[in-house]
Amino acid sequence: MVEENLSPADISRNLKTDFIGKKVIAYPSLSSTNDIAKSEAKKGAREGTVILAEEQTAGRGRLKRAWLSPKGSIALSIILHPTPAQLPSLIMVASLAVAHCIEKVSGLETQIKWPNDVLIKGKKACGILIESDVRGSAVDYAVIGIGINVNLLPADFPEIAATATSLAQELGREISRREMIRCLLVEAEKLYLALPEGDSVFREWRDRLVTLGKEVELISGKTSYKGVAESVANDGSLLLRQPDGNLIKIVAGDVSLRQ
Ligand code: ATP
Repeated sequence: MVEENLSPADISRNLKTDFIGKKVIAYPSLSSTNDIAKSEAKKGAREGTVILAEEQTAGRGRLKRAWLSPKGSIALSIILHPTPAQLPSLIMVASLAVAHCIEKVSGLETQIKWPNDVLIKGKKACGILIESDVRGSAVDYAVIGIGINVNLLPADFPEIAATATSLAQELGREISRREMIRCLLVEAEKLYLALPEGDSVFREWRDRLVTLGKEVELISGKTSYKGVAESVANDGSLLLRQPDGNLIKIVAGDVSLRQ
């Protein structure tokens, strides 16, 4: 692997953002960047603070699933203070930022699988975990956790070999994690700041979803729903047309989707 461990200055120097990535805290190894981001947020870290790790030893996905994040991955979390109305849009901000930057930095095409997996040629290249602390009607903080398979080869990891891909695998060469991370922070800030201006972020996210129009199965605990993923609402939920014609609304966050 050519790239050295990244320092906060490598990321922040001349970064074209107003607040995201102005402060970066970098670790060689962490259990989970989201856990440290949450504890920094509780201690009053300023909005836009980024927690970065060269590897995670206990990375988590949604529904407490394990997220594999060895050296060569990108593992970072961004602390934000959204309004309650903006909270559901963070999955859109995060998945679009990743999709834009994979395309910009590597030239590879991406697809978004509802609600927020970023795929390359149908295989998972990125996982996103949004966690937040909501008190009454106020959001204390939200944390966007992003894991991207950059310079690792999924074939080396039997648990994900069949379902995952990485940028290095698709390109046949390594790419700069520094460049990817700096792109992500700029894009995430642009998209986040666009939220109050209308529904452009929602529309782009909706239009990029590969899930719409497809037969899917949604699994929530012991219950599963089958049908056609007809559309999405601007709070991020999925509208599923069941075989009996009923349209049901499934909230992102507590379900797993198979297509
Ligand atoms: P799914 O992708 O199965 O629909 P999900 O979107 O809820 O579920 P996430 O929370 O995004 O899943 O990620 C956890 C899942 O991703 C794990 O169950 C595992 O199968 C898979 N996984 C773990 N590490 C990686 C990785 N580095 N690359 C790709 N997939 C991974």
